[in-house]
Amino acid sequence: MSDPTPILSGYEPASVLSFFEDICAIPHVSGDERAIADYVEQFAKNRCLSCYRDSVHNVFIKLPASIGYESAPAVMLQGHTDMVGEKTADSDHDFATDGLRLKVDAEGWISATDTTLGGDDGIAVAMMLAILDSPPEPHPAIECLFTVSEETGLEGAWAFDPAAAGATARTMINLDSEAEGVLTAGCSGGMRTDITVPVTGEPAEGVAVTLTLDGFSGGHSGVEIHEGHTNAVKAMGRILLALNEKYDFGLILVSGGGKDNAIPRDCTVTVDLRDTARAEDFARDVKAEAEKLRSEPNMISADKAFTCTVKILPETSALSMDDKTTHAVLSLLTLVRDGVLSMSAHVKGLVAHSRNLGIIKTITDGEGKPTAVKFSMSTRSASGSHLDDSERELEMLALACTGDGENAAHRARYPGWDYAPVSPLRDLWTAVSERLYGMTPKVEVIHAGLECGILCDKLGEMDIISVGPDMKDIHTPREMLSIPSVERTYRLVCAVLTELAGSESL
Ligand SMILES: [Zn+2]
Repeated sequence: MSDPTPILSGYEPASVLSFFEDICAIPHVSGDERAIADYVEQFAKNRCLSCYRDSVHNVFIKLPASIGYESAPAVMLQGHTDMVGEKTADSDHDFATDGLRLKVDAEGWISATDTTLGGDDGIAVAMMLAILDSPPEPHPAIECLFTVSEETGLEGAWAFDPAAAGATARTMINLDSEAEGVLTAGCSGGMRTDITVPVTGEPAEGVAVTLTLDGFSGGHSGVEIHEGHTNAVKAMGRILLALNEKYDFGLILVSGGGKDNAIPRDCTVTVDLRDTARAEDFARDVKAEAEKLRSEPNMISADKAFTCTVKILPETSALSMDDKTTHAVLSLLTLVRDGVLSMSAHVKGLVAHSRNLGIIKTITDGEGKPTAVKFSMSTRSASGSHLDDSERELEMLALACTGDGENAAHRARYPGWDYAPVSPLRDLWTAVSERLYGMTPKVEVIHAGLECGILCDKLGEMDIISVGPDMKDIHTPREMLSIPSVERTYRLVCAVLTELAGSESL
């Protein structure tokens, strides 16, 4: 299937684009990085460069400093070898076997026919290979880290063993950003927590009523947590709390949200309303409480279109949760802190600490009998001590609401990359960008996880920036990568490396 004429020949930087085209011919979606690791490893062997490959197929290549510049501290370059495999509905592309079909438009945007391009992060792999192949002179010792499975959970960064690889650099340029002119200088860490409420059941005695809230705008719990989106599960908690003052009910079933890192868009609860004569009143009051929420000025307009439906079911349920369980669930729904917990003191507009109650669900046994109600949430912060505090807070919450702090279980904790008020690398990148292009990069810190957080935690005190050329619509078949932006970014990386060759003190 390979095309004899390279699509990218004739464009600059020729070496980077030639490596990029090679990479695009090798299938390399997340979890399938063996072949691309073979390619990178062979590249190093052909040039007699020191190369370390681990069991997950991370590859680490070292290039010695230019002669006379051995005293300059080593610099690490880093990017990931995997790409997201998305294709159009009518495409018969097989990501396991087929190379990508590249094309370039008049403005120099590269894309792939019907599929993702994997500019994220193939262009980083290509830039690193081009530098190792023909480094700018002079240059310091360069260590290139090619990680796997960034897109599916940063698995390569997790598995990387710096001591085994012989990594020594304390300065790192991560090449996994998607906007030229933006310099990322920090990212959030995080963890997942499940709080489980054991269910004690009792025979249902009232009328079963189902309440559904649906159609909230949702969103990403890292990127959009400060934008005022309503959490459907918390909204349901508010309605139930208000009704609890006037009606005697037990919960039968609760279910809301789908992912712990997505703001829930919907929530459904079925209750056993013990005062059967008041079912119509109950339904009316649910609607009235929903309208109170809708009329709050602080609700964003996209959320105001939510729907609230109430169904009085024809049949009584066999079992309801007893008062103690119902009380525990309502307490948790009310008391778990959700949304922005604090803002950064240093970076304007940056969320420092947040939580998203992403899923609530009823766990049932083989006969459909409820055994537990599980709350799953994601907490984010760049600060380890914030996360420690959140662990204790949620254990205390579980103790207060369920009688046992061990009903809170934490998992998948990952470290953040805290914004460093002093960063010689950030200053140098900014100065070189201003000198070459008259462009002062915008410094950003993001409230989502990056490989830099994990690598920073493993490597110890590191001076890190994350940069990259312009890309559009990554992770979709419309993904595009700008050739002129690749050229400027590559020249900037090379110029910064040359400056670092002369540095003694970074
Ligand atoms: Zn990426």
